[in-house]
Amino acid sequence: MQIFLARTQGFCAGVARAIDIVEQALAKYGTPLYVYHEIVHNTAVVDGLKARGVIFVDDLSVVPYKARLIFSAHGISPDIVSQAAAKQLKTIDATCPLVTKVHEQAVRFSDEGLDVVLIGHKGHEEVVGTAGHVLPSRLHIVQNAADIERLTIPAHQMVAFITQTTLSIDETRELILKLRARFPRLTGPLKDNICYATQNRQDAVKELATLCEFIIICGSPKSSNSNRLREKGEQLNVKSIIVDNAAELDLALLQGKNTVGISSGASVPRHLVDDIVQKIQQAFPHSTITTFDNPEKNVIFPRPTI
Ligand code: SF4
Repeated sequence: MQIFLARTQGFCAGVARAIDIVEQALAKYGTPLYVYHEIVHNTAVVDGLKARGVIFVDDLSVVPYKARLIFSAHGISPDIVSQAAAKQLKTIDATCPLVTKVHEQAVRFSDEGLDVVLIGHKGHEEVVGTAGHVLPSRLHIVQNAADIERLTIPAHQMVAFITQTTLSIDETRELILKLRARFPRLTGPLKDNICYATQNRQDAVKELATLCEFIIICGSPKSSNSNRLREKGEQLNVKSIIVDNAAELDLALLQGKNTVGISSGASVPRHLVDDIVQKIQQAFPHSTITTFDNPEKNVIFPRPTI
């Protein structure tokens, strides 16, 4: 068996920063420490922090008055900031700076009085947070071509678009083209808001698809960028599966295969991928491993003062 490890492995800079913020807050203030939503969408990371006393909540009504609360990497709407202020919570913002940048665009377009089309998955925490920065009467969330067709904004009107950061690059490009055809005065970011980590991981899966008969994506069910990686492999006609950890990998799927590629989402700790490699090596003792240079090793986002 030849194992190919995608060139992108380990945490992206936004995830590393968010987890570091929780670690620093734990070290400085101890527990109780509350986090609004999962700090990042990875089961192992969240379970590890829960075991150390961190409490994850999806509703601020359960957080005690004046408690300490961290906002997750996915970002929050101004309404959540107000709710936290009303309870005098001591807040720390772990929103990824690349998500904050999208929030700033949302505010700018909304303040300019434009209708804002937000391309993203309805209900995803990042989309809910970004949507909260747009005047509700101006907000239109679309996740596919049919949603764009259903928009009732007049075609001559100036319309702005923004996107979730972890979408499929190819599908988002098509949706933007469709929007541009429908609204000739469309404005927005230069390209889209898809982040460097999502772009690199999708490029790395495209590379794996040229080398492998089977692709394993390590990632949790709620991780948007991990799910897009599995879809990308499938779109390139390579059978692709997603597993949260090595225990979930059914080795029978590898029988008869000579090449397997392994990639992982931006919130996956490196040791989970190592566990998968080890499990395959134990089952196929003569496996070889091919690695590639990681383009992200020097990307670091500055930390706030905790
Ligand atoms: S995937 Fe992108 S947007 Fe999300 S935390 Fe990582 S760098 Fe930030």
